[in-house]
Amino acid sequence: MSGLSTGWRTAGRGLALLALVFGAVAARAAPTAADCRALEPVPWQAVAPGVWVWLPPGAGDVSAANAGHVVPTSVVLGGREAMVIDPGPSQRHGLRLRRSIECRFKARVRWIVNTHAHSENVLANSAFADLVADGRVDIFATAATREGMAQRCPDCLASLTQRVGEAAMAGTHIVLPNRTLAEGDGLRVGAFDLRVMRVEQGHTEGDLVLWNPHHRLLWAGGLVYQGRVPELAQGRVDDWLAALTRLDALKPKQVLSTVWSKGRQGVPPPALAATRDYLQSLRERILQAMDEGAQPQEIERVNLPAFQHWEGYSARHGFNVQRAWRELEPVWMDRATPAK
Ligand SMILES: [Zn+2]
Repeated sequence: MSGLSTGWRTAGRGLALLALVFGAVAARAAPTAADCRALEPVPWQAVAPGVWVWLPPGAGDVSAANAGHVVPTSVVLGGREAMVIDPGPSQRHGLRLRRSIECRFKARVRWIVNTHAHSENVLANSAFADLVADGRVDIFATAATREGMAQRCPDCLASLTQRVGEAAMAGTHIVLPNRTLAEGDGLRVGAFDLRVMRVEQGHTEGDLVLWNPHHRLLWAGGLVYQGRVPELAQGRVDDWLAALTRLDALKPKQVLSTVWSKGRQGVPPPALAATRDYLQSLRERILQAMDEGAQPQEIERVNLPAFQHWEGYSARHGFNVQRAWRELEPVWMDRATPAK
């Protein structure tokens, strides 16, 4: 087991002591039956024994209608303790999550994982700020994600508020991770083991990949999409394609990323191939446009009709073209230079 797992157990003993000290406070904080009846139920779906997911209301991009809930929030249960992976976009979302885990699963959130520094994944840390402050919850992320959040979250909070409205984001403030994860670390929730795999740089500067080999269950940060145009803002096409090759090699049965994708009868989760198809098509079409003498601003020459029905195509595809164009110029130059 890794050093982190040792640290984890040490932290666990500290938390047990804290639980004694704060027992009276915690008991008062527990939801009553009336609290639970008043709660809008979360439509949890079972992923594996002890693992549940709360999916977004539709496949849409961020909007006032979905209040920024566009990626799955998942929970891993170990007895009365819970780990949340990507708590969601806002204080409101996070409070509903926290209360639902208490009411539905009779468990308390002890650990949160932020897979990468995007607002829709991490801003619901806000709902756990009191528990982080008194040591009852730890928030884990890679060093790159923590850095990315520190740099971008003030802007991304403002941007998300603009898109979904003040009411949906009321009370949301930035809470940064307080624990760091790196490749080779291990996490354990009850009997459920999670391995921290290589941190991938395709979608952001550091997407955390978590792997449970027993159930062949993969958390892939923001690296896997389907039905919604991938966001390349902090990423690189060739690094992302290489990351997908490594994810494929794990032969997962299920992937939790921007979608929940399930394989069937030896066929891998289809979102892995869907994401590769978009990125590969983007890459090939840009190199072809360069061969034809096109300029980067001629975005219409890199249309991808097969993906025009994906959410976010009009808002994001053009930006992805420009981002990928800059990345691929040296690739094209190398290719165009005759061998000596
Ligand atoms: Zn993302």
